[in-house]
Formats: sequence, structure tokens, C-alpha cells
Amino acid sequence: MSTSNHIVIIGTGIAGLSAAQGVREVDPEVRITLIGEDCYPPYDRTHLSKQMLKPEARLEASSLMESEWFDQNDIQLILNTRIEYIDTAAQSISTSVGETIQYDALVLALGTRARQLPASLGQIESTRIHTLRSAEDALRLQGALDDSKRLVIVGAGLIGLEVAAAARARGITVDVIEAGSRILQRSCDPYTADRIASLHAENGVKLHLGQSIESVSESAQGSVTLHMSDGTALEADLMVVGIGVIPNTDLAESAGIAVDNGVVVDGFGRTNVLNVYAAGDGASLPIQGQNCLTRLETWRHAQDHGRCVGMNAAGQQTEYKAHASFWSDQYENRIQGVGLIYDEIASTLVRLYESGAHVSFLLDQDRVLKAVLGIDAAKDVNAMGKLVGQVLSVSDHELKDEHQPLVPIVKKLLKKVS
Ligand SMILES: Cc1cc2nc3c(=O)[nH]c(=O)nc-3n(C[C@H](O)[C@H](O)[C@H](O)COP(=O)(O)OP(=O)(O)OC[C@H]3O[C@@H](n4cnc5c(N)ncnc54)[C@H](O)[C@@H]3O)c2cc1C
Repeated sequence: MSTSNHIVIIGTGIAGLSAAQGVREVDPEVRITLIGEDCYPPYDRTHLSKQMLKPEARLEASSLMESEWFDQNDIQLILNTRIEYIDTAAQSISTSVGETIQYDALVLALGTRARQLPASLGQIESTRIHTLRSAEDALRLQGALDDSKRLVIVGAGLIGLEVAAAARARGITVDVIEAGSRILQRSCDPYTADRIASLHAENGVKLHLGQSIESVSESAQGSVTLHMSDGTALEADLMVVGIGVIPNTDLAESAGIAVDNGVVVDGFGRTNVLNVYAAGDGASLPIQGQNCLTRLETWRHAQDHGRCVGMNAAGQQTEYKAHASFWSDQYENRIQGVGLIYDEIASTLVRLYESGAHVSFLLDQDRVLKAVLGIDAAKDVNAMGKLVGQVLSVSDHELKDEHQPLVPIVKKLLKKVS
């Protein structure tokens, strides 16, 4: 049971919503306020680059909770309200309309915002140039896709490539420009990334690798032109910029809360300021096996972290065990990964099925499984995901041989470590 009377959660994304759920699980009585600048009730952000880009798709279908849920759980939901200031001494927050709200415990679930192109590139304020983070962005992009024949995407990360797949399904010509020498450098191993690149090529997407942007301009005829470093230019009706995100830390920083590429928290979600917690994409946290604070940008983490931190804000003391996993849907394919791939990977083993599905096992020099990724191999990735961080005492042959089912191998290995 909580010792707090009023728990305030800022941010109505999945981390904020899950924090509210976590608080309520622990304490049926405590007053909960969930407040954020988004003008729509909590929705599934992962749909924004997938389902929501289909013609006629409606945001209501991506809603995370029935509207009655908030009343039933006695959670006050305040939308369309930006928090401008936190007074940690007075334990209060100030809204953009000048209201002050007192808290006994505060959870910051502030997430991230899309990184924009630098202004030095030219006409980046054009209405033809989009980023994709909020429901409003998705609705705007959905409408713009209706009227476009040519799309250029800057950045071959997961969001850019999901937008590419959605646009191809509408018959739109798609060019993707990527500064790196391959796609998906931050999220996938080279084998998986190459297969995804082939998938896009087969579907008619033109990938321009190793290209930076020299300038952007808008023509009077209503198109945008992007000049690439190799001297060529691409003209399009529409441009989507998918070059990563920036954590929303200004609010915390101005309140004296420690920030390091995200709001710094310990394993319980506590910041350096008493009674202030942080969760989700916007929090930098200790993760087992990593020697520095890490910020994860995935749905499952934001959900689990939010719930755990909400429970702790309500008086529980549960240490968070991070689950680094992601998925992405492109064309008819599901891409999945468990584990972090920024560590030194000594070898990658691949199991390729006749169906075209595959699993990549990323091992370090001591044969510890650092990550497992796959395309259309959900059962294997989920099973092997349980072994991430463990030494894999099976032969390469067993891992690679598609005729030896992985689930029993995983069960055997799990028995060994327990
Ligand atoms: C288009 C898209 C597709 C994605 N697809 C996948 C996927 O397939 N798989 C996957 O694992 N992950 C995916 N992700 C990532 C996943 O959606 C995020 O990890 C998750 O939404 C993070 O949740 P969060 O609550 O921490 O942050 P957010 O969802 O960013 O929520 C933070 C909220 O806080 C609000 N806020 C910030 N500052 C203030 C303030 N001062 N006052 C009031 N409110 C404030 C923001 O407006 C926002 O509503 C995708 C993300 C995007 C954008």
C-alpha cells in the first residue's frame, strides 16, 4: 500500500499508461493523475508507421484503452496539456495554462521526439517534409500519401523502412537514402539487414546507401528536391525523415534532475531527486551486462518499465529487469530481435529455413548469446531470447541445422542454467 496521496504521471504514452496501471495494481486507493500534451487518449504508437498509413485507417482502432477504463480505475486523464516546470522542493508541476498540481510522487514518462534535418540543408520547413512520432504526424502523413506518387525517405532505420513498405503497398514510388554503408545498423545484424534490403528491392524500393544530403529545396510546382552527396538529385512529392529520436529531457534538466541521454534512473526507476521517478524511452537506466547507462527505444521495454516504476512509485521495491526486444512489420514479414547488438559480436550463426525464414544468433568471443534476430521465425526468436546473456553450450551445427527444432534445445539449455 502506498504512503503517497497523489501520484502524478507525465506522459500518456505506453510507459505513462503502464505506470498508472502499476500504481493501481499496488494501491487501489491512491489518487492518480495521468497528464500529457498529446491530444488523443493513449494509443499504440507502433501502429503509426504500419496500420495507420493504410488509406482510411482510423486512429480509434489503435486506442490502448476503452475510455471507461480510466473512470473504472479512478485515474484522472488530462490530455492536451504540456508541463512547463517541475518544482521539486514544493513537489508541484506547472502546466502550460498556468495551473499548479501538487504531487507526492511524480513519474516522468516523457519519451522522445523525432530528430529533424538541420536547418543548414535549406527548405526543411516545407509542408511536404514529414517526421513520424505522434498520432497527429501519422494522420497528416496518411493524408499526404493519398496525394503522392513519389516519396523519398531519409534514413533506413525501422520506421523509415516501415513507411517505405506502407507506401509501396499504395503503389507509390519510393527512394530511401541512407548515410551508412548498410541499412538498420543500430537494430539488426548484417545478415538480417541484407535480407530486409533484398525484400525492399524486390518490392521496388530504391535504396541509396552511403549517401548524405547536401541540400533540400522546394519547387514552385510543389515538389521537394533532395541533392545527394554523389551529385545526383531526387525529386519527390513527399519526404519522410526517419533519422532517429532525441529524448525529452528539458523538463527534468531545468528541475535539477540528472540527465545523461535520458533522465537518469536507478534499477528501481528512481531519479536523483526524492519522490521523482522516470520510465520508458526517455529514461537512461542500468542494464545487466552493460557497463554504462542505456536508453532503450522499444515498446515492450517502455511497457514493462512503466509498470514496474509505477509500482515502485506506489511504495513497492521491485528491481527492473530490462527486456531488450523489438519487432517490425514490413510487407508480409515480421522482423524480431531480442538482446542488444552494440556489444562486440565475435560471430554470427544463421539458421535458414526452406520457407525463407531465418534466425541469426549473435555470439561474443566467450560464446555468450548477445542477441537473436529473425525474419518470420517468431517461435525460435522468442525461445532463444530466453537464453540471451547465457553461454551457448551447443554446437554450431545444432544451431544452424533447420531440421533440429530449437525449442527442445532451448529447454535443455535452460535446465542446465537453472
Ligand atoms: C512510428 C513508430 C513505430 C514504432 N514501431 C515500433 C515497433 O514496431 N516495435 C517496437 O518495439 N517499438 C516501436 N516503436 C517504439 C515505441 O513506440 C516506443 O518505444 C514507445 O512508444 C515509447 O513509449 P514511451 O511512453 O516511453 O514514450 P512516448 O510514446 O514517446 O510517450 C511520451 C509522451 O510524453 C509526452 N510528453 C513529453 N514531454 C511532455 C511534457 N513536457 N508535458 C506533457 N507531455 C509530455 C509526449 O508528447 C508523449 O505523448 C515505434 C515508434 C514509432 C514512433
